[in-house]
Amino acid sequence: MTTVRHHQVVIDGGGTAGISVAARLRRQGVTDIVLVEPSEHHYYQPLWTLVGSGLAKAGETVRPQGKLIPKGVTWIRDRAAASTRTTGPSRSPAATRSPTTSSSWPPACSSTSSPCPVWPSRSGGTGCRATTGSTSPPRTWEFIRNVRGGTAIFTMPAGPIKCGTKESIDYDLLHAVPPQSAPAWLKDGALADPASPFGYLAVDQYTFQSTRWPDVFALGDVANLPTSKTGAAIRKQAPVVVANMLAARRSKPLPARYDGYTSCPLVTAHNRMLLAEFDYGLKPKPSFPFIDTMKPRYDMWLLKRYGLSALYWHGMLRGLA
Ligand SMILES: Cc1cc2nc3c(=O)[nH]c(=O)nc-3n(C[C@H](O)[C@H](O)[C@H](O)COP(=O)(O)OP(=O)(O)OC[C@H]3O[C@@H](n4cnc5c(N)ncnc54)[C@H](O)[C@@H]3O)c2cc1C
Repeated sequence: MTTVRHHQVVIDGGGTAGISVAARLRRQGVTDIVLVEPSEHHYYQPLWTLVGSGLAKAGETVRPQGKLIPKGVTWIRDRAAASTRTTGPSRSPAATRSPTTSSSWPPACSSTSSPCPVWPSRSGGTGCRATTGSTSPPRTWEFIRNVRGGTAIFTMPAGPIKCGTKESIDYDLLHAVPPQSAPAWLKDGALADPASPFGYLAVDQYTFQSTRWPDVFALGDVANLPTSKTGAAIRKQAPVVVANMLAARRSKPLPARYDGYTSCPLVTAHNRMLLAEFDYGLKPKPSFPFIDTMKPRYDMWLLKRYGLSALYWHGMLRGLA
C-alpha cells in the first residue's frame, strides 16, 4: 500500500541548486522540508575541468551528501520517478508527496548517450574522453598525459550544455561532449516545456515559477532558461526562488526577479583564466568591476582553482552566499 505524505516543501535533487535552496529555506525558518536525492555523494563539478587537465585532484570535488544536507531537512535517499500533476507533483518509489505544497525541481541535466559512441572508430583515433561525469575527469588527464602529439579536436553538441565542459583534445585523443537533456522522468512529464527539444522544465525566466502550476518552481540545469547552465547562475537563482516560493505559499505577489546572470570561467592556460559574466541581454555583469576579467589573468585562475570551491562548500551550500 502506498503511503501518502504531505510536506511544506519537497525538493527533488540535492545538487548545487537543491542544497542551496534547502539551506536558504531553513534560514528563513521553514521546518518541513524533504529532499529527494539518490546519490551518497555530492560533486563540485566546476573543478572537474581542472581535474581533467591534471591541475586538481578528483578527491577535492566530492563530499558525502549527508554532511551537506542542512540540519532539519529530511533526506529521502531515493530517485524521484515521475512528475504528473494529475496525481501529485512527483513520485518516488518511497513516497508520494502533496500537490498542495511548494516544490522545487533541480535535478540537473543528463547526458543522453554514452560519450564517444562512434567517433574513435571512424577517425582512427586511439582515445576518446568526456569530462561530464564524476569518474571521467581523472581518466581524461590520464589520456592527455599519454598523448605525445597530434591534432586537437574539440566537440560541442548542439543545444545547451553545462558550462565548462568544452575541452580540447588531440586527434589521437578525441574529447567529446555528449548531447545533454533533462532526465527522462522529467522530459516525458507534464512539467517539461513543449518548446524545449531537450525536455527542460517550463518556468517563468524571471521568477522560476512553473508556467502551469504556481506551487512548483524549477531552477538550475533542469530549468529551460535562456542563459548558460552554471553554478554561478544558480548562486543568483536560489535567493530568487526562495523569496518567490515563500510568497507563493502566502498567496502574495512574487517579489524577486532573476536577470539571467551567469558566468563562464574560461581557462586559457595552466595558470590563466578569464571570467565572462553577463545577463539575459548579454549585458556585462562584472563581479570585479575594478579589474578587466575579460583578459586571461593569474588572479582569476587562482579564484577558480581555490577561491570558488571554498565559496561553494562553505558559503553557497550553507545558504550564505
Ligand atoms: C565539467 C563541468 C565543468 C563546469 N564548470 C563550471 C564552472 O566553471 N562554473 C560554473 O558556475 N558552473 C560550472 N559547471 C556547471 C555547474 O556545475 C552546474 O550548472 C550545476 O552543478 C548544476 O546544478 P544543479 O543543481 O542544477 O544540478 P546538479 O548539481 O548536477 O544536481 C542534480 C542532482 O539531482 C540528482 N538526481 C538525479 N536524478 C534524480 C532523481 N530521479 N530524483 C532526485 N534527484 C535526482 C543528482 O544525483 C544530483 O545530485 C560545470 C559543469 C561541469 C559538468
